[in-house]
Amino acid sequence: MAARTGKEFLDRLSQSRPTVHIQGETLTGGIQEHPAFRNVVQTYAELYDLQHSEEHKDVLTYASPTSGEPVGTSFLTPRTPDDLVKRRKAFKVWADHSNGMLGRTGDYMNSSLMALASAADWFAQANPAFGENIRRYYEKAREEDLLCTHTLIPPQVNRAVAGTQQAGGKLAARIVKEDDNGVVIRGARMLATIAPFADEMLVFPSTVLRGTPEDKPYSYAFAIPNDTPGLRYIAREPLDYDRPRHDHPLASRFEESDCVVVFDDVHVPFERCFALGDAELCNGFYSQTSSVVHMTHQVVTRTTAKTEYVLGLVTLLTEAIGIEQFQHVQEDIAEIITTLETLRAFLRAAEADAEVNEYGVLTPAWAPLNAARNLYPKLYQRFPQILRKLGASGLMATPTELDITGPAAADIDAYLQSATLTGAERVKLFRLVWDTCISAFSSRQALYEYYFFGDPVRMAGAYVKSYDREPHRAKVQAFLERS
Ligand SMILES: Cc1cc2nc3c(=O)[nH]c(=O)nc-3n(C[C@H](O)[C@H](O)[C@H](O)COP(=O)(O)OP(=O)(O)OC[C@H]3O[C@@H](n4cnc5c(N)ncnc54)[C@H](O)[C@@H]3O)c2cc1C
Repeated sequence: MAARTGKEFLDRLSQSRPTVHIQGETLTGGIQEHPAFRNVVQTYAELYDLQHSEEHKDVLTYASPTSGEPVGTSFLTPRTPDDLVKRRKAFKVWADHSNGMLGRTGDYMNSSLMALASAADWFAQANPAFGENIRRYYEKAREEDLLCTHTLIPPQVNRAVAGTQQAGGKLAARIVKEDDNGVVIRGARMLATIAPFADEMLVFPSTVLRGTPEDKPYSYAFAIPNDTPGLRYIAREPLDYDRPRHDHPLASRFEESDCVVVFDDVHVPFERCFALGDAELCNGFYSQTSSVVHMTHQVVTRTTAKTEYVLGLVTLLTEAIGIEQFQHVQEDIAEIITTLETLRAFLRAAEADAEVNEYGVLTPAWAPLNAARNLYPKLYQRFPQILRKLGASGLMATPTELDITGPAAADIDAYLQSATLTGAERVKLFRLVWDTCISAFSSRQALYEYYFFGDPVRMAGAYVKSYDREPHRAKVQAFLERS
């Protein structure tokens, strides 16, 4: 097969029977017809169609090394600087399509799978079969253009004890049995975004394991189809209220569901396992394979697209109500511009300083990408704050599409116009600002950006520990000692 079209994505989804609990219902199929999912599923279909558009197909696809057919660029193993640029351009096309609001487009996990498969020898240390499994799985994902989600962390019951100790070790997903063909998993994982309409679930290593014998059942990495028997998703209340595009311009397109994941004695065949029972290996899963670097390359490209969107939006907003010339308004706009230019510089530096890793993969420099992923969770929080401050009461003078065409039409035209826009145009713009900074959809976006790579507090701790500060310490020490 080759890079999928939107129709092929939807056709596969219609054959899939994931178990999804949502608002008191249990679905076992029909995801693309359900009001909670049908709009975002259409948006994902549009992304797949872009792979075949005249404008984007050369960037979004490349020739498969096995079939020669065009396959998604996010699967491309970068060997040259041009490959890295092509990957970033492909990430950007998809990110622009959602203004960076879709966090789990396929290219995110594809980037991870590409790096993991390239480091197959690392998996083979524990068992040659694992090396072969990850390589084969990546090829399958690439050739079938699978959409994968992932789940990492144990449920948030009591963070004062390790995931392995929750409820006496009977809560977090763990291996409870091994048979001739594979392992059986029981328990839960906290969250998986896009789970109801993904093709596959990647169950990858959790937060750092201690390497004690008790950690063994919690140490694993595997991939299973989304409708594997015993796998259940509990979806949160949808933020797409099935309202018109005009009224909810973002939520009606980009609402990715988040689900709790329950494993009710799920059988995982050995050929779908990449690590089992080896805590030390699991702890090195992302860093030793460079997978975190390629994932972050995709994420920083996406957050750049999102920042460009916010800059465009704030520009339309301030022009519309004539507040561009006030200095504090300019200060806020400057903050968004600075964030954008910082992200662009990080991306450029990461690509310029890329090096070939031990598995022959040209890998972007980690230092700038690591800085970007530590900064953005906090920088993003300022954007909705700025939009709220500058939009002010205008964000409440936002009647719906039906009002614009209904009996209030003349009033809206007369009283809700702006310096540059008619009443209807201003309301349309302000509904977009509202969906970016006030709606439930926007709050979820802010939370998402904050926790995208894990808890920023613990991430900062790991950042400080891993950063080589010795040359700088020595320099200052030498200055102190200079006579
Ligand atoms: C919208 C959204 C979508 C998500 N999608 C996915 C997904 O698709 N797949 C996936 O695997 N995960 C997903 N996540 C989960 C994400 O990975 C976690 O939110 C993140 O790792 C933080 O973990 P936590 O939420 O369990 O917070 P907790 O670990 O419970 O932390 C809660 C608070 O307690 C503090 N705290 C807890 N423990 C410690 C400690 N040991 N030291 C210091 N402070 C501590 C934290 O600083 C934080 O303030 C998603 C999260 C969100 C919000």
